[in-house]
Order: sequence, then C-alpha cells, then structure tokens
Amino acid sequence: MTATMDLGLSERLRPIHAAVRDMVRNEIEPASEEFLAEVPKDGRFVYTARQSEILEGLKATARSRNLWNFWLTGSERGFGLTTVEYAYLAEEMGKAHLGAETFNCSAPDTGNMEVLERFCTEVQKGPWLPRLLNGEIRSAYLMTEPEIASSDATNIAMRCVPDGDDYVLDGEKWWASGAGDPRCAIYIVMVRTGGDDAPKHKRHSMLLIPADTPGIEVLRAMQVYGDDDAPHGHMHIRFSGVRVPKSAMILGEGRGFEIAQGRLGPGRIHHCMRAIGHAERALELLCERSLAREAFGKPLAELGENYDIIAKARMDIEMARLLCLKAAWMMDQGDLKAAAPWISAIKVVAPNVALDVIDQAVQMHGGQGISQDTPLARMWTHVRTLRLADGPDAVHRRQVARWELAKHRP
Ligand SMILES: Cc1cc2nc3c(=O)[nH]c(=O)nc-3n(C[C@H](O)[C@H](O)[C@H](O)COP(=O)(O)OP(=O)(O)OC[C@H]3O[C@@H](n4cnc5c(N)ncnc54)[C@H](O)[C@@H]3O)c2cc1C
Repeated sequence: MTATMDLGLSERLRPIHAAVRDMVRNEIEPASEEFLAEVPKDGRFVYTARQSEILEGLKATARSRNLWNFWLTGSERGFGLTTVEYAYLAEEMGKAHLGAETFNCSAPDTGNMEVLERFCTEVQKGPWLPRLLNGEIRSAYLMTEPEIASSDATNIAMRCVPDGDDYVLDGEKWWASGAGDPRCAIYIVMVRTGGDDAPKHKRHSMLLIPADTPGIEVLRAMQVYGDDDAPHGHMHIRFSGVRVPKSAMILGEGRGFEIAQGRLGPGRIHHCMRAIGHAERALELLCERSLAREAFGKPLAELGENYDIIAKARMDIEMARLLCLKAAWMMDQGDLKAAAPWISAIKVVAPNVALDVIDQAVQMHGGQGISQDTPLARMWTHVRTLRLADGPDAVHRRQVARWELAKHRP
C-alpha cells in the first residue's frame, strides 16, 4: 500500500462537522425524545400531526443550512464528500434517534438510493430517486426470508417466474426495515431466478417493486426485544402472485449478488460510524452520571472498578473509530474488493464495542438505565440488532479469516 492514509478531519469538513454536531445536540436530540413519546399506543404505523411537524421541521432546517444527502460519494448528485469525511458526520448523527433522517442519511434509504443511482436505468430511477433524494418518500430492502438461513444469501428462495412481459412473485420476506413507515413507497426485492445449473452467485436477481403492488400483504411488525420500532418497523411481508413488468428487473437476471455487494458495502460502514456515535454519547452520559451521583460517601466514579471501566470504554472507542476510518479510507481508494475485509472487520468491532460501552452506561445509571428515562436502553437494543442486520458477526469474521488465510495458502 503506497497512498498516504489521511484519516483526519479535513479543513473543508470542519464547519460542516460543527454544524451537524451542534444541530444534533441542540435541536435533534431534544426533538427526538418528543417524537418518540408521540408514537401512538394503537395504530402505531402512522405519523401524528406533531410527529410530522417535528420531523419535517428538522429536515427543512437541515436543508436550508445545506446539510443534506452527505452519504452519496463519487456522484454529481451527492455532496462531494469522501467516505472518511462522511464517517465523521455519521458518527454525530448516531447520537440522536432522528439524527440520520434529519440529514436524509438514514438506512435503508441510503443503500437503496445507492442501488438506484449506480445500477438503475434513467427510466427506473425516474419515479423514485428524486423523491428519495428529496426526503419525500422512504424505501425498504427485502432480502431475508423466514424459511431459510438468510445469512447465506445464496439460500434466498422467493419464486420469480417469467410470464409474458411480466414476472410473477410468490413467497415471504421478513425483517424489511422501514416497510412499516406509511411513506415507504418502493421496495428493492431479492429473488431467485436461476436454476441449480447456474453458478451459485448468478442465481439471484433484484427487482424494483412499488409497495402498493396488488398481492403484497404486510402481515405484521417483527418485534425487537418487545419493541415494534414504530413508525419505522421491521415488517413480515407476503407476496402472492405479485405481477411486475420485466422492466422492474435491475441490471438483468442473475446479477443480484453484484448489486448486493454495491449496496451493502457502504450501508454496513454507515451503521458502524453511527454505532461509534452511540458509544460516544453513552460514555458521555456514563461520565456525567458517575460524577453527579454519590453512594457510600463518594461519587460513583470513585467506587470499585469504575475508573477502569471508563478508561476501557475510551480506549475501545478510539480503536473502533480508527478501524472504521481505515475501512472508509479503503473504500475511498475505489477497490471495493480490497475494502471488503476491512468493512467486515469493523462490522464486527463497532457494534460489539458500542454494546459494551452502552451496557456499562446502563449499569452506571442503575434502574434508570434500563428504563425509558434515558436513551440508553433504546440505544442498546438498536446496536444489538446490528450484530445481525447486514449479516451476523460470524459471517463477517469468516470473511476476515478467509482473507487472512489467503495470504498464506500455497
Ligand atoms: C433489526 C433488524 C433489521 C433487519 N433489517 C433487514 C432489512 O431491512 N432487510 C433484510 O433483508 N434483512 C434485514 N434483517 C435481517 C438480517 O439481515 C438477518 O437476520 C441476518 O442476515 C441473519 O439471517 P437469519 O436471521 O436468517 O439468520 P441465520 O442465517 O439463520 O443465522 C443464524 C445464526 O447462525 C450462525 N451462523 C450463520 N452463519 C455462520 C457462519 N458462517 N459461521 C458461524 N455461525 C454462523 C450465526 O450465529 C447466526 O446469527 C434485519 C434483521 C434485524 C434483526
């Protein structure tokens, strides 16, 4: 490796970073708490008037400050940042529930927009990409299926049979994040099109399918440790004889894995950057609380092993951030294959580090830590899911090990 690796905060990013950081802290975090308290007890997958006002108000403010669509690198439609630069902003966004969406940088839309931008024809982009880039609609990515081990995506089985000018789809998907949102208008759906005679990674395809296509039925919201994550939602969806025109196929039959790689690389690293933001916010809360509260005649910070806990949290966060920045830098070099093991590595490290730090912060808050009175319990739950979403830890560790062993194989 010969290129100089500059992982610092660039001069041009400094004012943008400060603007994002201040908006997250002073405007988005307080508004996020009010937004969440507004989720209705019944009929949860709707937006109350107040929720729309909060969210759309934040988005309009961000846009008016030109803090919008930072995530899209290497495209005229994007903000023009490198992945390293974006990492610093995503970390700040991770500190508040509405952080990413306020700047139109939230999952799964960023990954889906990436697919539209990089792999779709102008006609396919037409009705969807401008509205997603404007934050008018949302989208979902439907790959995982209840009946098969989806961590091995070659198992994906949804039937997709050609019939005249159409394809007809049958099967079930679950864990479709964001499909509960009433604004979710478009799905990207992974299906099986090739037979056993086709090479394993050429048997699957991706289609663009409007969410209101007849035959699509949202069965239920999956719960994450008892929470349905309304109004976003992780939905279980059935396709019964769903008919779509052949023009809905992205790139062509058998190219699903090619697209998945293009989509998941950036998406995975964005999650990691935000997870580091979660960890920073949790450590801040931990330290504040450990100094403000006393037991046994001393501030909590001075008791037991709490210095060690705080020091370990700081050191782990710094290590994770550096690895995340290195993975981002590898992506910026333009060779996704070379970047892949680094993305896998941070995909394991970042959620695990963040989980540990958040868990210690929960503990330092006593009973309140697991309650609704701090953001910590929700953060923990969210970060725990990242050890599964976008591929379980074990699958990513396997990637790292295969890459390591390849250096030594004869
Ligand atoms: C909150 C949340 C949001 C999600 N959002 C989406 C979404 O928007 N779209 C979507 O399509 N999917 C989504 N997913 C699904 C997620 O990507 C899958 O759950 C994940 O890929 C694992 O697939 P699986 O659940 O079928 O587990 P399985 O494939 O059954 O794996 C179960 C376990 O088997 C073990 N295992 C698997 N492979 C290996 C290995 N190589 N070595 C050792 N052990 C292994 C691991 O312990 C693994 O956790 C989401 C999941 C969650 C929890």
